[in-house]
Amino acid sequence: VPKAVVSRTRLDCEVAVVGGGPAGLATARETAAAGLKTVVFERDHAIGEPVRTSGGSFVKPLVALGIPRRCWHEVHRIRVVGPAVQAVKNYRRPFGCVLDIRATYQWLAEQAVDAGAEIRLKSHVGRAIEVGGRPAGVEVRDALLGPLDVRSDVVVDASGHTGFLARAAGMRPANERAAVGLELELHAPRWNQDEAAFWLGDHVAPGGYGWAFPLGGDRLRLGIGLVRPESRAEPRDLLQVLRQLVEREIGAGATTGPIEQHSGLMPVLDPRQVRLTAPGLVVVGDAAGQGSTLLGEGIRYAIAAGRMAGRAIAASRADPRALSSYDDQWRRATQRDLRLAHAVNTRICSFRDEDWDRAIRRLDALTPRQAGAVFATSFSPGWAMGVALSHPGLIRSLARAGVAERRARRQAAMDRSRSNLAT
Ligand SMILES: Cc1cc2nc3c(=O)[nH]c(=O)nc-3n(C[C@H](O)[C@H](O)[C@H](O)COP(=O)(O)OP(=O)(O)OC[C@H]3O[C@@H](n4cnc5c(N)ncnc54)[C@H](O)[C@@H]3O)c2cc1C
Repeated sequence: VPKAVVSRTRLDCEVAVVGGGPAGLATARETAAAGLKTVVFERDHAIGEPVRTSGGSFVKPLVALGIPRRCWHEVHRIRVVGPAVQAVKNYRRPFGCVLDIRATYQWLAEQAVDAGAEIRLKSHVGRAIEVGGRPAGVEVRDALLGPLDVRSDVVVDASGHTGFLARAAGMRPANERAAVGLELELHAPRWNQDEAAFWLGDHVAPGGYGWAFPLGGDRLRLGIGLVRPESRAEPRDLLQVLRQLVEREIGAGATTGPIEQHSGLMPVLDPRQVRLTAPGLVVVGDAAGQGSTLLGEGIRYAIAAGRMAGRAIAASRADPRALSSYDDQWRRATQRDLRLAHAVNTRICSFRDEDWDRAIRRLDALTPRQAGAVFATSFSPGWAMGVALSHPGLIRSLARAGVAERRARRQAAMDRSRSNLAT
């Protein structure tokens, strides 16, 4: 029987954005606002669904990004619970918050479509189309239009943790290390809606941490995040342990549900291992490993990076060299903090209970403001000076994390070159 001939439709645009997460939507808003024909291809049926993230964030940077206040629930208290000790930090003004993911991502989508971008849902991107050795579009399976050959001047890889176009182009390594997370959204009227909490230690999250994030309306997100390959534990088993710990505090049976279940994966990349731009291809968000791996927090970073990328793409129409301004601006704004977060992440993955208790005692000794900078991965020189004066041990241990990470990287490079020589 002869095979049916599937005709492919051609779609031309100036910017093809792969992925309708925060990074892709923020990029699309900027390129569309600059008058570039922009199309976002999202494989799922809706923006912000399914939820694959937890939404923990910080009020100040979200306000600076212009995200509407209705998109988050604020907390005034952050508690870190170790095997034997705990640290509690209270904030007069709301400091941390938990994002309503659908509301936030859909607000970003509204911004993009209002600026003139098109969003195509159930539109799955396959591989890049190359012309003259550089990306010139993508192949797409679109639920409404069928197979598409999309031709574009620039392709934006905003595909999240896979970063599959960037990887194929050799702009980033594979996810040799990644955080896996599983979370239940529960009804928990007795949980203090003003408090977010973290649990650390072998009994609850070996090589990771557990969390309780309130989001208003008596809802509570309980989750476990673990770094692979260091941790081999099963998040679903640990989630039971965490739920018991929470119910020990607020009463047996005081959490009901789940009403939702979320799971996902976040890359743990050293920011220096990733190239953000190449002719015809730009990488943003998790695809470029742009989150903080200290607490596994990437949403606000993805939005900020998307905006920088979108503006640079627009500017590159007049002068192609302007594309690299995205890379420069991003590294200037975040590289120091994200490198340090990566170094600390590498170190704490092997922490045992006594290490956690020591670290939590150190955190407890910090002022709420100093501790807040740690939670928010904001290690300014002013912060380091202040902490160095009052708590030199903490600065020494951060420095040790940096040294250990450099050593591990050198060793990995030597191992790679040895195995290359051997093959
Ligand atoms: C369990 C877990 C908990 C987390 N908790 C937090 C937290 O509390 N706070 C925080 O700030 N960050 C958190 N993060 C990280 C945060 O989710 C990411 O940093 C953020 O989502 C990155 O945004 P992005 O747009 O780069 O990628 P994503 O949000 O992953 O968006 C990528 C989009 O691309 C689409 N896509 C992928 N492949 C294709 C394809 N081939 N064709 C078309 N579309 C495609 C996907 O469907 C998706 O919509 C967490 C991550 C995980 C896994």
